[in-house]
Amino acid sequence: MKIKIIKCLQDNYSYFIIDEKNQNACVIDPGEPGPIINFIENNNIKLKYILNTHHHYDHVGGNEELKKKYGSKVVGFIEDKYRIPEIDLFVEDNQIWKKDKFEAKIYHIPGHTKGHIAFHFFKEKKIFTGDTLFSLGCGRIFEGTYEQMFNSLKKIKELPKETEVYCGHEYTLANSFFCLANDAKNLKLKKKVVEIKEKIKNNLPTVPTSLGDELDCNIFLRAKDVESFSKLRDLKDNF
Ligand code: ZN
Ligand code: FE
Repeated sequence: MKIKIIKCLQDNYSYFIIDEKNQNACVIDPGEPGPIINFIENNNIKLKYILNTHHHYDHVGGNEELKKKYGSKVVGFIEDKYRIPEIDLFVEDNQIWKKDKFEAKIYHIPGHTKGHIAFHFFKEKKIFTGDTLFSLGCGRIFEGTYEQMFNSLKKIKELPKETEVYCGHEYTLANSFFCLANDAKNLKLKKKVVEIKEKIKNNLPTVPTSLGDELDCNIFLRAKDVESFSKLRDLKDNF
């Protein structure tokens, strides 16, 4: 399986997971149709599935047009079936979603939205975390509670350290300023920020990041309890 990173809208990332044997593909969170269609047409991709982490427009904005053009099936969380446009296939917490050669475990990770999920392609050791876990940050809590978000991040933290994390936005540099401001003595963080700046300078995505790096550097994953996590989340909202 090959991953292709596609920039969408302002700072969103969509991702193709491509079975190179037959060019069958899934796309995660197509925020808009244009860049997705371009890649499909230039690479003879067969877009079989559209996977949505949550219902926000910048993650589902391409669903309708892509489904109409390619007949792809839209996959989303069962409890969000009324707000994920064009949804066809429902998934639930802890389910293994398996179609063709694609196989992912679903985690329900509420907090940013009530119905947010992650797709864990465990054989490939890759997780698509939408707007829940970012590199050096986490999503804003719009619909859930601090405790839900804390527990959602905890689920992700328990995965193998070498897991590659693919998140929904390029927020890494801005996030790094907050981590540095609140964790100034963290040498691993400082080293990671040097790498991040180098990537940004060369116009490269800072994703994927590894879960190991995030455990070392992401201040929201380093929070020991809900109270300290909540305090950080409030500070970040006003940073
Ligand atoms: Zn969102
Ligand atoms: Fe988003």
